[in-house]
Amino acid sequence: MKKMQENKRTQGVWVFGDYRNYFQNRVTLQLIAKGKELADRLGTEVTVVVLGHQVHQFAMEYAAHGADTLMVVDHPVLKTYQVETYTRVVAQLVHEWMPHIFLAGATAFGREFFPRLAKRLKTGLSADCISLEVDPEHGWLIQTSPAFGGELLADVVTPEHRPQMATVHPGMFEERAHDRKALSRIVYPEVQIEADDRVQLVRSKPEQAHKGELEDAPVVVAGGRGLGSRENFQLLFELAECLGGQVGATRPAVTAGWVEESRLLGQTGKSVKPRLLITVGTSGALQYTTGIQGAETIIAINRDSNAPIFKMADFGLVGDGRSILSLLIEKLRKRI
Ligand SMILES: Cc1cc2nc3c(=O)[nH]c(=O)nc-3n(C[C@H](O)[C@H](O)[C@H](O)COP(=O)(O)OP(=O)(O)OC[C@H]3O[C@@H](n4cnc5c(N)ncnc54)[C@H](O)[C@@H]3O)c2cc1C
Repeated sequence: MKKMQENKRTQGVWVFGDYRNYFQNRVTLQLIAKGKELADRLGTEVTVVVLGHQVHQFAMEYAAHGADTLMVVDHPVLKTYQVETYTRVVAQLVHEWMPHIFLAGATAFGREFFPRLAKRLKTGLSADCISLEVDPEHGWLIQTSPAFGGELLADVVTPEHRPQMATVHPGMFEERAHDRKALSRIVYPEVQIEADDRVQLVRSKPEQAHKGELEDAPVVVAGGRGLGSRENFQLLFELAECLGGQVGATRPAVTAGWVEESRLLGQTGKSVKPRLLITVGTSGALQYTTGIQGAETIIAINRDSNAPIFKMADFGLVGDGRSILSLLIEKLRKRI
């Protein structure tokens, strides 16, 4: 494979500004913060690329969250995301400015757009990363993501091709505090924009907001396959109610239809950072624990004392999930 622009020097850390559902989806802000850290180590700066129409307010938010430069392409054709048009436009920017690193959130959007862009740029892409670091020897981006079905964590580097591209799981990094007075440079690059997509957006409808915000809940009670049935799973809702918390689930519980997909935690679901997380009948697979690692205190309930979940739990109860849940609910109800 031919190396991109091999005679020219690449520089800068770029973050793609995914501002759709801005107030719920904070991953771009988290990437700006992480991008700043990487850029500092590399002696460079963070640029946020913003495409769309009348997107000034979002660009200003990125400035307030630490972007050094905003690269804004504002055009009516870019009002709604179209993968082919966006790829053509951003590929032009990359060829012209040659970033060293380019990051996007592993949202539905990032998961579609970034692989296509990486293919167009003839570079590599690590999907769903949970950690990013700089290799002190070569300055390469170390992209850590679950591999082989989550059995292993792989550190991936892209030694030759540029930019080094990665999508990052939401909730892995802390966003910086909002600073209204922060200053950023704004660049309006000249690019060719043609609406020439084979897929046309006919209409879009926002997904219904959830009643309770799982990501912001101070207490999360999560359950997995070990609960055995929908009826047993319902006990989690009772416990959550007693504790003023929300319910989360592992993939098997969602697949079994015990609970809706929006409560899935982990690599392909949500990441939570509650003060207390109680996890019942979950083995502790990496794809799940990725979503709960930010919890302050974890209590695990599992009938197998060797279950890997106990390695990350602060407290563990070995026993039948249903019985322990029933007991807890009974005790808590007496105290309310
Ligand atoms: C690419 C990829 C992405 C994935 N993304 C996700 C993701 O985002 N989120 C996710 O959750 N999974 C994800 N998975 C699946 C993940 O690998 C695991 O299979 C899943 O997390 C396991 O769920 P579990 O712990 O509920 O089930 P299991 O691994 O089957 O564990 C069940 C546990 O319950 C215990 N148990 C059994 N009976 C009882 C009882 N009566 N009382 C108490 N404990 C009991 C058992 O000892 C066991 O430890 C993904 C997999 C892949 C390949």
